[in-house]
Amino acid sequence: MSLTVLMNAGPWLPVPPPGYGGIENVVATLVPELRRLGVRVVLASTADSTLPVDELMSVFPDGQFGALQRPYNQVCGISHAHLNGVVRALRERDDIDLVHDHVEAVGLAVLTAMGPGAGPALHTLHWDLGKHPDLYGYVDGGDRVRVNGVSASQLARAPQALQDHAVGHVHLATPLAVDADLRPPVEKSDHLVILGRITPGKGQHIGARLAHQAGFDLVLAGPVGPYRRPEELASAGPEAGQNPDVRYWREQVAPLVDGVRVRWVGMVAGTARDDLVASARATLFPLCWEEPGGTAVIESLAVGTPVVAIGRGCLPELIEHGRTGLLADDEDGLADLVPEASGLDERECRQEASRRFTPATMAERYVDLYEQVRRAAAAS
Ligand code: UDP
Repeated sequence: MSLTVLMNAGPWLPVPPPGYGGIENVVATLVPELRRLGVRVVLASTADSTLPVDELMSVFPDGQFGALQRPYNQVCGISHAHLNGVVRALRERDDIDLVHDHVEAVGLAVLTAMGPGAGPALHTLHWDLGKHPDLYGYVDGGDRVRVNGVSASQLARAPQALQDHAVGHVHLATPLAVDADLRPPVEKSDHLVILGRITPGKGQHIGARLAHQAGFDLVLAGPVGPYRRPEELASAGPEAGQNPDVRYWREQVAPLVDGVRVRWVGMVAGTARDDLVASARATLFPLCWEEPGGTAVIESLAVGTPVVAIGRGCLPELIEHGRTGLLADDEDGLADLVPEASGLDERECRQEASRRFTPATMAERYVDLYEQVRRAAAAS
């Protein structure tokens, strides 16, 4: 296939990211499979990205994630500097057939503002936009800029301006799903785990409360804002308190973390992350937001760990209640379900992952969408 895609992953983290990194993980999962299908990939990211690509384009030497807690205008400055680099490339060269953009709001706005010079472009939504209709209210991409969701529920909650330009949804994928059904089972220990950013939407405070009430061991894994390790957060200066996730941690989660029943291990990466999840009796998602894509959900299935969750957002699309996990309506329901998790068969989880959530499945779907977007742009 002769197709060159400019994959815009943004300036915040290198690809692949060192541990946590939602969008960057998606790009790192997608790109190798696209290249296997013959797509040429120009990656717009930071200069320390190590993902093999046909060309790397960067403005910043390394990930600017730490700057996200700086004042808003500085954050915008970084975002715009990165996007200027992308726009300049699009204006100066004619070998890009399609832009696949992953940078929230700003990326889409810049692409649409470019008019015909932008297209064709596909913008993948990564966040729950139900709460942010204004952010996207002004976007009008015509037929040259299209969007896709990472779940049907996310797309259904998106502002109308986006739904009018939607070409469907593509569920997320994980390399762990490849041959997941063929791997031998991992010995389970008794703890449950919550894997993800420590942030109100992920509901770590609910999980910690349940662990104390119902008497199960819970491991919290994930960064708190830019702080990846407990020591880092402990030695942070007063500016740390400006970060909403740090405030959430300090006020609602940390008081429940006793180091025995509930532990925080900071950000985990690589095999340490996979082993932690694989050895857990279940992964807990006490969600307080409409989870848009749920990478950690499908990773859990791929390593054979059932998911016990409040069934918000994409969870009902990813988890079959009673087979690969258990879904509750609220916190009380979740408490009732936890003891049932050990009755679920880990093979069902791994089989589901290898059937539905492999990188190849995701890449094939994106290639279809690229064709659709290019056809629509050519006809406009
Ligand atoms: N993650 C990780 N280490 C951590 C916490 C999270 O590697 O300590 C990864 C996790 O495995 C998943 C991604 O970060 O691949 C989070 O993606 P998800 O869609 O679950 O959450 P969000 O993008 O909303 O943060």
